[in-house]
Amino acid sequence: MTAAVLEIDDALAQYDPVMGLEVHVELNTRSKMFCGCPTEFGAPPNTQTCPVCLGLPGALPVVNARAVESAIKIGLALNCEIAEWCRFARKNYFYPDMPKNFQTSQYDEPIAYNGWTEVVVDGETYRIEIERAHMEEDTGKSTHVGGATGRIHGASHSLVDYNRAGIPLIEIVTKTIEVPGDKAAAVAKAYVSMLRDLLLALGVSDVRMDQGSLRCDANVSLKPTGSATFGTRTETKNVNSFRSVERAVTYEITRQAAVLASGGKVVQETRHWHEDTGITTSGREKSDAEDYRYFPEPDLVPVAPSREWVEEIRSSLPEAPTLRRVRLQEEWGFTDLEMRDVVNGNALEPIVATVELGVTPTAAKKWWLGELARAANESGQELNALGVGPAEVAEVQKLVDAGSLNDKLARQVFDGLIKGEGTPAEIMAKRGLALVSDDSALIEAIDRAIAANPDVVEKVNSGKPAAAGALIGAVMKDMRGQADAAKVRELLNAKLGI
Ligand code: ADP
Ligand code: MG
Ligand code: ZN
Repeated sequence: MTAAVLEIDDALAQYDPVMGLEVHVELNTRSKMFCGCPTEFGAPPNTQTCPVCLGLPGALPVVNARAVESAIKIGLALNCEIAEWCRFARKNYFYPDMPKNFQTSQYDEPIAYNGWTEVVVDGETYRIEIERAHMEEDTGKSTHVGGATGRIHGASHSLVDYNRAGIPLIEIVTKTIEVPGDKAAAVAKAYVSMLRDLLLALGVSDVRMDQGSLRCDANVSLKPTGSATFGTRTETKNVNSFRSVERAVTYEITRQAAVLASGGKVVQETRHWHEDTGITTSGREKSDAEDYRYFPEPDLVPVAPSREWVEEIRSSLPEAPTLRRVRLQEEWGFTDLEMRDVVNGNALEPIVATVELGVTPTAAKKWWLGELARAANESGQELNALGVGPAEVAEVQKLVDAGSLNDKLARQVFDGLIKGEGTPAEIMAKRGLALVSDDSALIEAIDRAIAANPDVVEKVNSGKPAAAGALIGAVMKDMRGQADAAKVRELLNAKLGI
């Protein structure tokens, strides 16, 4: 059933949205959170399990130190305080994909808390307060078989794969976010995208939204414009792309506005996001924390990271991606718009690597954005799957700088590189792409152009030097593009005496 919605502008004219974002990150540790099982994605079902992550009687968990280190890294990068002492807690509830009948999580003693970060939307910076980042474990994965939708309703039976059970997760929870209503959805998207960059830079996760290693739950509520009292929130679960975060927030604003405007009440519940239709539907009514009967985990020792360790980790943190971007933009002399294109085109890292090989930022941008990103887009590939790396781009640019290629021929070399025709030199040889640098060949072509276009020569001689452009065009065509146009112009001008 599709719910009534208001137009977003109508909704925002009457209500201010409040958001809270919960992001789950699967860490990339080699072993699980509380046992030694491997964590590789995509292994055959139930081949990466042991008594601990299957919750067998008598099995005892041990904390993965590497996961704690990653949690501290994330906390520090989000300007959080790091607990001197904290415990795990049992979150009790039944679900078949959770064999212990409780999730080992953290409750009132998170490892990191009280942080903040910033995102930029349309040139405006918004501060986002971080409530906490805590450690927990992932659940297994249920597959419902036999139904039309893949959901449990209508299924004939369900399969459970415990490979994912016990994989370390960090849950990052924001405080409530209040920004101008028309920016809310974009801020939510920018926040998740910023987190992804940050987590990648920290090296703690592969943050593959498509594989579920970064998942976002979006809490949204509305309050009448100008009111200070928060409304009832819904929590849209497992939104799995940046764009969907933006769409889901927008959808909830328009749906809740319709409920409130017609005199109804928003139900506190979880909601499912439907990627195909762009709507959310009711999930389960949301339990309060008390229902989970949280209590400190008796089988695990508390985590008490020494201050020396925390400081050591702090000093090893990489430059924050947001600041790095500002620095690179300044160093490269790119405009805001150019930088945005670079980032949106996923060309930042390739350009950094290409510039490191001695190519100017402008040339690196020209090839990565103008040529390679376009080709990737056309063939529906990721830029880094194109088979052309910074080394090849640098090599081609060197050939351009040396006068062996012009931009047009370089484009053909890139085409050959993408098609796997060999190295730039091999492609040039195979496709016959080298520029003709031999003056006599150029002069012969110029003579042919002059002979074939007496009317143009006439114009030039009668005081219209701009007409010579047609002759240059004729020469380039004659040379099949394999001439340096500047060189041709120079020789032609000498010949015509202009
Ligand atoms: P839960 O256990 O329900 O997931 P959490 O504390 O983990 O609760 O996360 C709740 C999220 O919802 C936080 O990001 C919080 O800031 C946000 N939040 C709380 N109240 C509201 C509200 N009225 N409207 C929107 N977001 C809210
Ligand atoms: Mg939560
Ligand atoms: Zn295990």
